[in-house]
Amino acid sequence: MAKVSVIVPAAGSGVRFGAKENKIFQRIKGQPVFIRTLELFTNRDDVVQVQLVVSPADLADMKERFGGNLGFMGVSIVAGGAQRTDSVRNALANVRDDADLVCVHDAVRPCVSSLWVDAVFAQAEKTQAAILAYPIHGTLKKVADKVITETVPRVDLWEAQTPQVFGRDLLRLAYQTATGATDDAALVEAMGHPVSVVMGDPRNIKITTPGDLALAEAVIDSLPKPKPKGGDHPFDEARW
Ligand code: C5P
Repeated sequence: MAKVSVIVPAAGSGVRFGAKENKIFQRIKGQPVFIRTLELFTNRDDVVQVQLVVSPADLADMKERFGGNLGFMGVSIVAGGAQRTDSVRNALANVRDDADLVCVHDAVRPCVSSLWVDAVFAQAEKTQAAILAYPIHGTLKKVADKVITETVPRVDLWEAQTPQVFGRDLLRLAYQTATGATDDAALVEAMGHPVSVVMGDPRNIKITTPGDLALAEAVIDSLPKPKPKGGDHPFDEARW
């Protein structure tokens, strides 16, 4: 079993969400979004480290309100940077030497089944680079000044999700010169290393606007759960 170090970037400004405090503090069924997200990883046998990357503006508040809980969960807190790449890079510097893989998962994606995490970890163990993604089913338009300028053919288009999982040294190399990317796979792709796609699920939503909280509450109990131990292999091949 590969050992996985998990980085959870939570240092965004959340401008699109529009609330006074960072959207990671919003609650889903009474629990802060980022705590739900961290719990996807803190109870796993294959995870050896979890780092939460927090904006310098939220650092004091986070430590005061949640420092005790996070310590109990074995989560360390790291200061983030101006761009997502800066935030992930800060945490990459602390990744333990005994970790084989590094998993990056956005704090704002709390609706993930452990089966999907199992699947992307297993694929990354095989190929050193794997992400959850989901094919685009809608029709895509390019728009300028509220007028459509182009219809983009959706054939072969997938939306990247997280978790995104990579060999530790591969991701470190990808980050040596990185700026501006909105996900980690883009940096590994730019190196010419193939990145595998593992079938995700539309329920793996990214909390971006207040309406997404209601959506998350609605879907969270519907996520597939592992079969009790001793049964068949938990990953449902029929999804492919
Ligand atoms: O901005 P975006 O929605 O792409 O952010 C994705 C994730 O990256 C969020 O969890 C956000 O908190 C995090 N982020 C970060 N540092 C930044 C910008 C975004 O950790 N400077």
